[in-house]
Amino acid sequence: MTVAPIFERMALIGIGLIGSSLAQVARERGLVKEIAISTRSADTLQRAEELGLGDSYALDAAVAVEGADLVILCAPVGANEAIAKWIAPALKKGAILTDVGSTKGSVVDQVSPHVPEGVHFIPGHPIAGTEQSGPDAGFPTLFDQRWCILTPAEDTDPEALEKLSTFWRACGSDVDTMDARHHDLVLAIVSHLPHLIAYNIVGTADDLETVTKSEVIKYSASGFRDFTRLAASDPTMWRDVCLHNKDAILEMLARFSEDLSALQRAIRWGDGQMLFDLFTRTRGIRRSIIEAGQETDAPDFGRHAKDKAGTPAE
Ligand code: NAP
Repeated sequence: MTVAPIFERMALIGIGLIGSSLAQVARERGLVKEIAISTRSADTLQRAEELGLGDSYALDAAVAVEGADLVILCAPVGANEAIAKWIAPALKKGAILTDVGSTKGSVVDQVSPHVPEGVHFIPGHPIAGTEQSGPDAGFPTLFDQRWCILTPAEDTDPEALEKLSTFWRACGSDVDTMDARHHDLVLAIVSHLPHLIAYNIVGTADDLETVTKSEVIKYSASGFRDFTRLAASDPTMWRDVCLHNKDAILEMLARFSEDLSALQRAIRWGDGQMLFDLFTRTRGIRRSIIEAGQETDAPDFGRHAKDKAGTPAE
């Protein structure tokens, strides 16, 4: 599907999995006339150029955003404040500045103070990804049938919001809007906690002395393997997510620990009914996710039967 260009010049700051996927879908569907790319390291910038992801490439992010009517920050959330400070003087009046970061409250706190008058800052988060990173990991269908959450402020210009929403819809996503703090709570339970649990369980297995590492790898099909996919996610990105969504994650972790203690008690006292009831309830959640089109009911979570787009990481 190609549509008339929505933006003249899109600048992507950071060109890993998400930036590269955005460049590819925008190019393939004709969503922008021109793509300018900037990233931190010369090696990654060169790789982006080899892959033909953009029309121009600059290590200086301020050069990339010059004349851009859409600027998307695609770096780990911890980098946003420095990038915002750097590009602020070069942003064009009327431009839309957005991001793709997995946390929103901290992005608002970091970026908003630096946004010049006349620039529309609308934070965003595509709920689409894989455990891969870097420009080679990107693919144009990443956002198809995935949600993109935008967290506008009360005084955000409705026209700018609609234009950005149109862009994301053309990328294949359904768009939802919500308050940044609410986003952080929702994502803490559906994405951040599952990743932390995965990192923890894989770390625990790795530390065990009574079970060997080769046994863990050999018998991993029995549940462990699904955790290892999440636990293979980018360490920098997930360090930043934990540090930048601290309050919501700690709140969800406290709740999770309480529920885990209840489960522990049920096992200790042989309360089979409690276990059966919980496992029945959770099975229903899985069915609802499949019915909502966010996963297939193919065996093995559809992971081997589908293309890369079938492995949403968050
Ligand atoms: P990624 O593949 O690791 O790529 C990150 C990119 O940001 C790289 O090009 C990296 O550049 C660049 N970068 C890092 N620090 C920078 C800095 N200080 N200034 C400029 N560029 C910098 O990461 P990703 O998966 O695309 O994630 C990007 C953002 O999307 C993150 O905020 C993440 O929270 C969010 N997100 C990720 C997923 C997911 O599943 N992966 C899903 C939704 C949203 P160099 O290689 O040059 O260092």
